[in-house]
Amino acid sequence: MSQVCLQDGPNCEPCRPLQRSPIEGFYLSGDYTKQKYLASMEGAVLSGKLCAQAIVQDYELLVAWGQRELTEATMS
Ligand SMILES: Cc1cc2nc3c(=O)[nH]c(=O)nc-3n(C[C@H](O)[C@H](O)[C@H](O)COP(=O)(O)OP(=O)(O)OC[C@H]3O[C@@H](n4cnc5c(N)ncnc54)[C@H](O)[C@@H]3O)c2cc1C
Repeated sequence: MSQVCLQDGPNCEPCRPLQRSPIEGFYLSGDYTKQKYLASMEGAVLSGKLCAQAIVQDYELLVAWGQRELTEATMS
């Protein structure tokens, strides 16, 4: 497996972003994000799962955020 997977260069691990970005309502998925595998199809799939989990966990926040945006849009 290690022969077919593309590998990051040295010291890249701390640079991998989490699936829940610091920007409200903005999520990341892809083999480059923080997950336990190297850049691989397994890593891409796991990152998608972690991304979906983060969205589900944030559901209430996202609904509240969407309603706030809608209210602001209708008032302006
Ligand atoms: C030659 C090669 C061989 C490989 N062999 C293996 C292997 O044998 N086993 C293995 O596990 N992994 C292998 N990999 C790695 C594996 O393919 C990747 O890790 C995996 O596909 C990453 O999936 P991803 O969804 O994160 O990104 P990607 O598959 O790169 O998907 C990202 C998608 O986003 C699109 N995109 C980019 N920018 C934009 C934009 N601005 N707007 C809209 N769309 C955009 C791209 O066109 C692409 O379709 C290989 C990779 C390469 C290059």
